[in-house]
Amino acid sequence: MAGSGRAELVDHESPEPGPGEVRLDVLAAGVCHSDLAVLAGGVSRAWALPFTLGHEICGRVAVLGSDVEGVDVGDQVVVHAPYGCGRCRRCERGQTNYCDDRDRLPAAGIGLGVDGGMADSVVVGAERLVSASGVDPVVAATLTDAGLTSFHAIEGCRDLLTEPDAVVVVIGVGGLGHLAIGILRACYGVQVVAVDTRDAALELAGECGADVAVGPGGAAAAVTAVAGGRGADVVFDFAGAQSSLELATAVLRTAGELVVVGSGGGVLRVAKPGVLPAGIRLRLPFWGSRTELSGVVELARQGALRPRTTTFPLTEADRAFAELRDGKLVGRAVLVP
Ligand code: NAD
Ligand code: ZN
Repeated sequence: MAGSGRAELVDHESPEPGPGEVRLDVLAAGVCHSDLAVLAGGVSRAWALPFTLGHEICGRVAVLGSDVEGVDVGDQVVVHAPYGCGRCRRCERGQTNYCDDRDRLPAAGIGLGVDGGMADSVVVGAERLVSASGVDPVVAATLTDAGLTSFHAIEGCRDLLTEPDAVVVVIGVGGLGHLAIGILRACYGVQVVAVDTRDAALELAGECGADVAVGPGGAAAAVTAVAGGRGADVVFDFAGAQSSLELATAVLRTAGELVVVGSGGGVLRVAKPGVLPAGIRLRLPFWGSRTELSGVVELARQGALRPRTTTFPLTEADRAFAELRDGKLVGRAVLVP
């Protein structure tokens, strides 16, 4: 139950899909740091409690509701989970992550306000489905938030990433950050400096293709060395803590971009005159679009993106949450029913 800090395994009737919906047999559901925030009571007032967590879902189509086209029973799919009104131009373009009505909706996404995928089955709108054929379901699940959010955060500064000799800093090499390094490696010829407080995460950063992996204390010197005396063109902050934001702005180049993805509660002071480098851009990306989800699934299908996963039986979800909370996990935890 959200607020109690603990999840509870309960028995439910299998839900029936309504018009335009399908029921999926869940094959895998990823565990996100945001799930810990929900369990700790970080829920919107608009959300009806309790609900089933799980916004990173890979499943097999089991039952079709009426009026569903283009999907067959047996298809292996992933779910584009961000909620939108479904009617505005952004929603029509598959950008439900940036629907103007987000704050008034009953959920932030499937598994964030309404029942999600940490279950045997889940009912979702057919328009949310993206084919994940040919991709390991455990891998596929991680692509729907850890992969998608990283992909969207990266695509938003393509202009800087395609500059010659671009240097990128990735702070926080957990579920999202390690996939960000993999996507940067697969799609851009940038140099990557990875920063984390944990040795195991730094080791993973190296395996994912980071050129340098250092603790926060060594980051500024590492960036200066890699960037030939200047700062980083782009800093992705997957922690969003006070210390990581301070580091991010300290290593950013003039007219660079700071991309804050993590929700660690750090506060950035914006003032002119002030200490922030001249000309910088600030972006606060949220999740990603349906088209971008197809893009990141395609990278995995081609073998260009290899998430590091640890699987847990669904019945041991609490152990997965505890290991994530205690900083014992490397890569992404995935629950398998
Ligand atoms: P995670 O726990 O798997 O990874 C976080 C990593 O950051 C860990 O390796 C940790 O050691 C490292 N870290 C923590 N504080 C640090 C610091 N001060 N300096 C350097 N490294 C530090 O978490 P995750 O699931 O990858 O999620 C990361 C963050 O992104 C969370 O805050 C989560 O809520 C948020 N999130 C945002 C979005 C979005 O759309 N913007 C989507 C999903 C998750
Ligand atoms: Zn909308």
